[in-house]
Amino acid sequence: MAQLNKSMEKLVSLTKRRGFIYSGSEIYGGLASTYDYGPLGVELKNNIKNVWWKLFVQDREDIVGIDGGIILSPKVWEASGHINEFKDPLVECKKCHHRFRPDKLKGNQCPDCGGELTKEKLFSGMFETTIGPVKEEGILTYLRPETAQAIFINFNNVLSSTNVKIPFGIAQIGKAFRNEITTGNFIFRTIEFEQMEIEYFISPKENWEKVFNSFLKDMHKYAEMVGISNASLYDHDIPEKERAHYSKKTIDIEYEWPFGRDELWGLAYRTNYDLTKHSEYSEQNMDYFDDETRDKYIPHVIEPSCGVDRTVLAVLASAYDEEKLEDGEERIVLRLKPEIAPYKVAVFPLLRNKPDIVKKAREVYLQVKSDFSTFWDERGNIGKRYRYQDEIGTPFCLTVDFDTLDDDTVTVRDRDTMKQIRVKISELKDWFASRL
Ligand code: ATP
Repeated sequence: MAQLNKSMEKLVSLTKRRGFIYSGSEIYGGLASTYDYGPLGVELKNNIKNVWWKLFVQDREDIVGIDGGIILSPKVWEASGHINEFKDPLVECKKCHHRFRPDKLKGNQCPDCGGELTKEKLFSGMFETTIGPVKEEGILTYLRPETAQAIFINFNNVLSSTNVKIPFGIAQIGKAFRNEITTGNFIFRTIEFEQMEIEYFISPKENWEKVFNSFLKDMHKYAEMVGISNASLYDHDIPEKERAHYSKKTIDIEYEWPFGRDELWGLAYRTNYDLTKHSEYSEQNMDYFDDETRDKYIPHVIEPSCGVDRTVLAVLASAYDEEKLEDGEERIVLRLKPEIAPYKVAVFPLLRNKPDIVKKAREVYLQVKSDFSTFWDERGNIGKRYRYQDEIGTPFCLTVDFDTLDDDTVTVRDRDTMKQIRVKISELKDWFASRL
């Protein structure tokens, strides 16, 4: 892994210690720029994806979803231009053989050892694979470098099998693969990652800027919903010479990472480039016919594109906090939004060697667990259990003690304020529901 700064180091260490994210293939010495999500990480990531899917698909009438393949016909990548264009210029250090993207270098010496660099050469960003048992005779194809193309090639299918009408969008969440030259910074840039993308189809006569701006607004709304403050975001309007040739406008939504400001998500107006190309290469008609206006056209597209893993990282970086307590102790707390926290509640018996208390606590645990994702813990003392839950961002801890056996109330402790109150067991469901 590349050098990480102090706050990234702390975050990486927490995510490993608590089972959010592990380095890939660790027992075999690791595989650069690959990571595995652990038990807590998979919950957090699923919650982040679910909020996106609900906001952009389920709560809207004009967007439907698909789940397309990772391996598509190689013709897709010819048509989309990826085979010819999805290449990054690369320079290599003649001494230490480390490789760099020239656009990320600040001089013409190797940033790692000061050695001399080679001239630029082009390097394909796509992972190749072959279909068929004999490699030499197989069909050469690729792992998709973006989810978008699976949407474009299903445009006619979705149109003829559902009741959508322009303007409408097709959304997808799924894996993408890029043979990145510059890697590092933890899950910011990896060779395998997930994307949440929408292709929103509009008429060429539509006011595209209005649609573009409304997606920009919704992306900022989504950021707040998962706990990424808009104050830490910056809309970078990409100048024409840096945009893909088919893009009329691109905004990179950048985040203030612990290692500096860089892209979190992108929003682009891709014109009708992709559908036109697929129509040409597949020789299929991709025209849309509008019954009302009698217009016939190849739709234009606005594309909001969000990396899941970068969202996870921004959520974690935004939530991470260290706090000095009155007794001089320090605590680490992940101030995650309750909606995306892996566990909403943790239930403890005050003492693990008191069967009455443990029995009651198990009853309460099973009751709460049927409504909210709940963690059971009877290890160590209460103080240690609180610290553990603070580090994994659980909003509420609930303790069953001697008083519970008399009055059917429990102690509920708030992660952020650390305040404790007594709540009746019969009222727990409503109490949590109104706060989670
Ligand atoms: P960058 O400039 O950082 O390489 P990009 O402009 O190539 O990113 P897009 O092609 O616009 O990225 O992909 C859309 C989104 O997918 C990005 O905004 C980012 O969130 C995510 N993404 C792209 N590449 C990676 C990667 N290698 N690792 C993790 N996420 C990625």
